[in-house]
Amino acid sequence: MPQELLLQVAPEIAANETLLHDYLSRQLKISVKEIQHVTIVKRSIDARQKVVKINLKVMVYLKGEPFLEQKIALPDYQNVANAQEVIVVGAGPAGLFAALQLIELGLKPIVIERGKDVRGRRRDLKAINRDHIVNEDSNYCFGEGGAGTYSDGKLYTRSKKRGDVNRILELLVAFGATPDILVDAHPHIGTNKLPQIIQDIREKIIECGGKVLFETRVTDISIKNNEVQGVTTQNGEVISANKLILATGHSARDIFELLDKKKVLIEAKPFALGVRAEHPQSLIDSIQYSCDYRGEHLPPAPYSIVKQVNGRGMYSFCMCPGGVIAPCATSPGEVVTNGWSPSKRDQHTANSGIVVELKLEDFKPFAKFGALAGMEFQKSIEQKAWQLAGQTQKVPAQRLVDFTQSKMSSDIPKTSYVPGTTSVELGQVFPGFLTQIMREGFSEFGKSMKGYATNEAILHAPESRTSSPVRIPRDNYTLEHLQIKGLYPCGEGAGYAGGIISAAIDGEKCAQKIAEVLKN
Ligand SMILES: Cc1cc2nc3c(=O)[nH]c(=O)nc-3n(C[C@H](O)[C@H](O)[C@H](O)COP(=O)(O)OP(=O)(O)OC[C@H]3O[C@@H](n4cnc5c(N)ncnc54)[C@H](O)[C@@H]3O)c2cc1C
Repeated sequence: MPQELLLQVAPEIAANETLLHDYLSRQLKISVKEIQHVTIVKRSIDARQKVVKINLKVMVYLKGEPFLEQKIALPDYQNVANAQEVIVVGAGPAGLFAALQLIELGLKPIVIERGKDVRGRRRDLKAINRDHIVNEDSNYCFGEGGAGTYSDGKLYTRSKKRGDVNRILELLVAFGATPDILVDAHPHIGTNKLPQIIQDIREKIIECGGKVLFETRVTDISIKNNEVQGVTTQNGEVISANKLILATGHSARDIFELLDKKKVLIEAKPFALGVRAEHPQSLIDSIQYSCDYRGEHLPPAPYSIVKQVNGRGMYSFCMCPGGVIAPCATSPGEVVTNGWSPSKRDQHTANSGIVVELKLEDFKPFAKFGALAGMEFQKSIEQKAWQLAGQTQKVPAQRLVDFTQSKMSSDIPKTSYVPGTTSVELGQVFPGFLTQIMREGFSEFGKSMKGYATNEAILHAPESRTSSPVRIPRDNYTLEHLQIKGLYPCGEGAGYAGGIISAAIDGEKCAQKIAEVLKN
């Protein structure tokens, strides 16, 4: 029987198999030659003390003990070319994992995606970064893999059901992600690795007889007697099916408008909004690891911070160590930020959304838009940022301390945001109450993370697509829309997920519910 051990070791030991075996031989009082294999089961960083340690859970196999390298395999997907069709709108994590699950359950997914495949998408990302041109169907949020493809690929989630989370992580590994994601407390894939994984998922869907249609925007959903009949695409093509998974993400404003126009029940939903802060990574390392130099065995340090200010939470969101700030607008005439990092997290900057929770009452000035009030509030801030940026994708930016002191920054150093920055007093971007909370909040952050509140940090505005501003309400058990039979609101856009893993889990659940209904 292998021995399970919990260890706390220096980073260089955790990073080196030989040193780890030496360490274990000393702990177990055996010769190193007696150790056949060590499997790392869990890995996390403990930076609470002055000296940073790595927590490891390991299984130690001694010579002579049976040991089989575990290989994560794909499920036994069926050929569904002739099976009953289910429409899946949106090829983000929710839509793709719904499609895979439908195949596993013997149903044929027709995945309809407004954007291009991962390769085609790249050209449009270049156009945003270089020429300030936003393609409404192909950008950082829209296209194959959805907002997940050029995302950071951090895979931690608040989702409680460990089984569901592990299943998605294992599927990602089977599609080519590093097995490290099964072990790390804070798993991360990286923007450079995600496109190939997404492409392999699509190829599997097609190989099994499913369909994937790119550059096909759904412009209408046909509903008769409160039951879904199918969809119409921008070319006027009608695709019929009476089961529809709607997984269009939090930025599909035209879908929210369509549902509202058709009087399909939707609700305004609170979300969070703020700025994206960028610090030198070395500064964050020194704060988090209490050191002058991180060394080669520790990863670039993340941070997570939350404060209550005037009765509202202000917190870090989607923190990207060693990462880059990306222009994430989905329409011309708006500026939106978010962040990503490559698998090695080897950029010199650390960025994080720093956002304030909004309440429904904040949307009052937009009350005439009904369920779309939050979306219009969000849009108004993104459009103001674009105006202040001289009607370009150059993001309004300010040094952090200058912001807390309402002082325009005399210069903005080059940041990782490729389209460039424009020096703006960021109080002009946000409503007064939000500016006030952020000014106080940043000062508070500086008290608990010594060195954080510095003018070396540059704030970029706005960070506004943290979650959906709309909920498409569904029955908690059947997952069907409350009024419309056959309509399954799914993933982040429907308000039932926040992040890659929870969106993927939700996609699977919707597919399972459809299979249940069709079996009975
Ligand atoms: C830069 C960036 C970094 C991020 N980093 C992380 C991270 O590190 N970890 C994490 O967990 N999450 C991260 N996220 C968030 C994550 O990507 C989303 O939570 C996740 O992708 C939501 O999945 P979804 O499938 O619900 O929606 P989406 O991924 O938004 O997918 C929706 C899809 O629907 C398509 N669509 C929309 N309207 C239509 C239509 N009318 N017709 C046809 N298709 C349509 C869109 O083109 C899109 O492809 C990041 C997001 C961004 C933008």
